[in-house]
Amino acid sequence: MLVILHPNTDESSEEYKLTWKHLQGLPDVRLQKHHVQGRGQRLTEIYLIGNTTKIDREEIESLPSVERVIRISHDFRILGRHSTETNSIDFEYNGIHFNQENFKIFAGLCAVDNKKNVERMMQALQENGQECTRMGAYKPRTNPYSFQGHGMECLTYVFELAGKYGIKVVAMEVTHEMHIEEINQCLEKLGNPTGVMLQIGTRNTQNFELLKAVGRQHTYPILLKRGFGISLNESLNAAEYLASEGNNQVIFCLRGMKTSFNAPHRNMVDFAHLPIVKRLTRMPVCIDPSHSVGTREKSPDGIMDILHSTSQGIIAGANMVLVDFHPSPTEALVDGPQALTLNELPRFIEDTSISRQAYEKRVALWQEK
Ligand code: PEP
Ligand code: MN
Repeated sequence: MLVILHPNTDESSEEYKLTWKHLQGLPDVRLQKHHVQGRGQRLTEIYLIGNTTKIDREEIESLPSVERVIRISHDFRILGRHSTETNSIDFEYNGIHFNQENFKIFAGLCAVDNKKNVERMMQALQENGQECTRMGAYKPRTNPYSFQGHGMECLTYVFELAGKYGIKVVAMEVTHEMHIEEINQCLEKLGNPTGVMLQIGTRNTQNFELLKAVGRQHTYPILLKRGFGISLNESLNAAEYLASEGNNQVIFCLRGMKTSFNAPHRNMVDFAHLPIVKRLTRMPVCIDPSHSVGTREKSPDGIMDILHSTSQGIIAGANMVLVDFHPSPTEALVDGPQALTLNELPRFIEDTSISRQAYEKRVALWQEK
């Protein structure tokens, strides 16, 4: 059972103390408190864990600090939607706002190769009004002899250049707990010129120790990729691991599934699962058309499959798109064949805005009584 208190409840007030004391006196339940920092308000949520079947919902709702009480009906205790009245996860990080209603683009390099290409990328983003990017420093590779990313060595110039070009959030994959500390130290040393969203890749979706470590830190929001060979339910449980350790600023990313039928695409595009994730959980949902489709092939209509899939995700309500670009895809050290070029960036943005408007019109259409 989830007890949501009035926004900005003062925990030193008499009302709060009375409410807490009453909840503590309930038999067979343990209390777990979570704070949710939304825009301009702080929510306190108290989870009643244990046998709650005999608890009278109305009695709890009549306690002085309580706004409402929700019976939790399935697995995802913190991130789950539980009822249509629950709000989506809603947070602001470094001036950028994330929830299940809005839409953000994270275009950038799959893997950082050199300072010059990072600068060209960042400059193109700024020229096109973008404030977020993706930059891979720690690359998990299938082949141990492939380029593994520059790791810690490139962080300084990546963060400095992000700051120089007004980029506020850099999505960056971490594959080991120590990478969080390396990012932390580098950002602090530079005086936080930008922010980071910690990305957990599809190969680590069920690396539970990594999930716990990333979930324990409260400095950075998290982008969790769906596992490419596990069920949706298993991937959503992985997200819950992050929240159960205290960080519920989690965005869930669909990135395609490995099947024997995905060819000629790199993975089977799974963006049809987008509304399911929104229905089952309160997480904003991201799509990664680059790793799903994996090729720059285009249809007779002149539109690349990556753009078609992007559109399919946005028109189904995506809140974020993570997409690979490169100033010179043929020279990219990782995933060049799926990278869009910098002169395609303005049209990519324009295309997403057409799809987003179509989604908004569709919502209005179906909200009509
Ligand atoms: C990536 O986004 O760079 C990446 C490696 O993606 P995934 O984990 O989905 O393969
Ligand atoms: Mn990649």
